[in-house]
Formats: sequence, C-alpha cells, structure tokens
Amino acid sequence: MPNWNQPLSRLPDATDVLVVGSGPAGSAAARVLAQAGRSVVLVDAQTFPRDKTCGDGLVPDTHAALRRLGVIDEVLQRAQGAAAARCLAPNGRHVDVAGELAVLPRRELDALLCRAAVDAGALHAAPARFVAPLRGDSGHVTGALLDDGHTQRPLTARWLVLATGAGTGPLAALGLCQRKSPSCMAIRGYVRHTDPDMAAAVGGLRFVWHPTLRDGYGWIFEGPDHTYNLGTGVLVGQLDEDRGKPPRNLRRMFDDFVAIDPVAARLVREGTMVGELKGAPLRCDLEGATWTAPGVLVVGDAVGATYSFSGEGIGKAMETGIAAAQALIAHPDDAAAVEAAYRASLQALKPRFDMYRQAASFNRHPWLLNIMVWRANQSPRILAKLSDILNERRLPGSLLTWRGVRSMLLP
Ligand SMILES: Cc1cc2nc3c(=O)[nH]c(=O)nc-3n(C[C@H](O)[C@H](O)[C@H](O)COP(=O)(O)OP(=O)(O)OC[C@H]3O[C@@H](n4cnc5c(N)ncnc54)[C@H](O)[C@@H]3O)c2cc1C
Repeated sequence: MPNWNQPLSRLPDATDVLVVGSGPAGSAAARVLAQAGRSVVLVDAQTFPRDKTCGDGLVPDTHAALRRLGVIDEVLQRAQGAAAARCLAPNGRHVDVAGELAVLPRRELDALLCRAAVDAGALHAAPARFVAPLRGDSGHVTGALLDDGHTQRPLTARWLVLATGAGTGPLAALGLCQRKSPSCMAIRGYVRHTDPDMAAAVGGLRFVWHPTLRDGYGWIFEGPDHTYNLGTGVLVGQLDEDRGKPPRNLRRMFDDFVAIDPVAARLVREGTMVGELKGAPLRCDLEGATWTAPGVLVVGDAVGATYSFSGEGIGKAMETGIAAAQALIAHPDDAAAVEAAYRASLQALKPRFDMYRQAASFNRHPWLLNIMVWRANQSPRILAKLSDILNERRLPGSLLTWRGVRSMLLP
C-alpha cells in the first residue's frame, strides 16, 4: 500500500492543503481535494488503522456521503446491513422504522476512508500530531508544527483543514475554541454472541428509551462477525437547564441499560466481551468553535457536526469535510470567498442541527416515546413520516417536537 502511514520525515516542506485528523471528516476532505488535483497532506496523531470510540452505526446521511465519495460499495461489502431502526419505548413496545442502515467498526471504516484519500493522491503521514499553527505576518495560518513523538517539523500550507474530532487542544491552539466542555458523552463496548436468534432479538439497530436512561438512550447495533456494539449516552448535556449539574456516571448508566433491557442483559450474560468499555465526548449543534479563520476551515466533530438528539455524526463529519473541500476547489485564488462559501454551507445545515437540538426533549422525557411508538404502529402515515425523518427526506420538526407530539394525538 503506497503512502500509507508515511513517516513525518518523508513529507514535502510545503503543500497546498494540510488536513489534520484522518477520521471521516478529514479523509473525506482530503479525498475530494486530491480528486480535484490539489496537493494534499493528511496527518493523524495515531497510526492507522486505529480504533475510535463510537456506536459504529451508519445512518442514511452517512450512506449518502459514502456514495458521494465513491466508496459505498466497498463499505457495504464489509458492513452488517440492517433494514430498520428498532425504537423501544419505556413501556416495552417497539416500532421498526425503515432506513438505509449498516454497522461497521470504526477501525475498519476509518482505515477504508483514509486509504480512499491516499488512492486519490493525498499523502498520509502518521503518527504526526498537530502541535501549533504557523502564522504569517498578518496572523493568518500558514501551516503547522507537527510532532511524530521523536522530532518536530514545520509544514507550510496555503490552507489548514482542522478535523481533529471532539478534543479541544488543536482548536484552542488556533484560538478557535469557544467552549471547552463537550456537548455530550457516550460509552460503548463490544460483545460477541453467535446464537442466530440474537440478531433477531436485537432487530438491527436497536434504540432503547427509558426513564432510567433519561437525558439519553441505550443502543445495541449488530455489527459484522456476530459482534454487537452496545452503549449509552447522555445526549442533552449542554441544554441551559443542565449547567451546574454534576456530570452523569456513564458506567452506571451502562449498567442501568443492561438491567432494564432484556436483550442487552442476555447479550452481556451469554456473550463474550471484546475489549474494554470506552467512553468519549461528542461536540454537537455546530456550536462551540469558530468555523473558519484566515487560512483555516474547521470540519467534523471539531466544528460540532454531531446531532445532539441521536449522537450521530459520521455522516455530517464527512459532509462538512466535503463542503470544505468544495469551497477550496471553487475559489482557488480567493481566500475570503473560500471562508464565505464554507460558512454558507454550514449555515445551510444549521436549522437542521437546531431542530435536532429541540428534538433532544425526547431524551429528556422518554415517556414521549410511548406515544410515538403507539401512534406509529397505528398509523402508516406517522410511520412513513418517521422513516422520512430517519432518511433525511423530512426535517424532524414535524414530529420530534411538542407541536409534533400534539399533531400525533390528533386523528
Ligand atoms: C460512544 C460514541 C458513539 C457514537 N456513535 C455514533 C454512531 O453510531 N453513528 C454516528 O454517525 N456517530 C456516532 N458517534 C459520533 C462520531 O463518532 C463522530 O461524530 C465522528 O467520529 C466525527 O468524525 P471526525 O472525523 O470529525 O472526528 P474523529 O473521528 O474523532 O477523528 C479525528 C481524528 O483526529 C486525530 N487527531 C486528534 N487530535 C490530533 C492532533 N493534535 N494532531 C493530529 N491528529 C489528531 C484523531 O487521532 C482522530 O483520528 C458516536 C460518538 C461516541 C463518542
């Protein structure tokens, strides 16, 4: 495999675009830029393939971005497909909402995306940690100081695309961090269970709402090779009313999930745990960071591109990476126009993020799911609306709000 994890010493002194972070956001940006003939260096602090704490669920917006990048077939060949999201209400009833869904561990997905960027012509160097920006006389960013654990070296670039995920160190080093605390936190583990009836019991991508898991939900996603990703998250962490409250204990929330969901309990009792339980932060709502600065575009979790209702962010990470690349391609000689075009594409996404933030009420008031599941099982119209929301053919405001709940109760 050429150019895979090149040492820092092998990189050129200068490049057109330096993309920092080889997760979905960074690799998507690097692939699109390289396909357009731009010289791109992609760097990551970790050697690939690497693990990333995640639910591994590929929801419809992720499928759309993978299709746009031309890697959907390769991903789906390896992923475990699913036909529906099974939503369980606190009263134990469920509804299956149809959607384009799959599950692939991030170790594999991210390696595949990074390789796709390299295949398109990007240079990938790892380990290569972003330490600090390089700045020109006017203060605009002109590259970065990188560190491979032994030595540090500068790399100059006309543009820096920052795709470093939910950690705030690089954002702060650039002076672009507006809020250090994460929006949400989630924890996950892998369990292997080979009984064929387990897959049927899980029902594809299983989402469980319950008062014990208030402010979030539990999930079990069936992945490849009879391995299930299960976890819980606190997904309304930054709402105003939460300020000043002590943080939830995620490990206890995970144990509560296993106690209240019989399928999770059976999985943990009979299956084999693979690796450790791991928690990680999420940054949501396109908030908490300055989106652009002279010479810099911020993409993915770093710019808050995860939905706070669901904690899903892989698809939007790639979308923002692609949008940044398109802004750079469209305005090769006009830096102000690049920033303006990228900001406009995030602004166009913002109302959707705001609606998902409102929809987080469902996590705060899980009994609302009793109504939703009851009505969706009675009404093909409501079930179709839910499927449209999942597949991003419709904004969530028509159902996942108080007004939406009122409309569900009307005949
Ligand atoms: C427990 C949990 C479950 C989740 N489940 C789902 C799910 O099922 N579906 C979904 O769509 N989303 C899910 N998400 C959200 C999803 O993980 C993120 O939205 C997504 O990873 C964002 O991609 P990214 O490319 O922006 O960042 P990341 O995937 O975090 O990639 C950032 C990269 O930057 C590198 N990096 C960091 N700092 C530096 C530095 N200083 N120098 C160089 N490189 C650096 C890191 O090593 C990493 O490789 C979940 C999140 C959590 C925490």
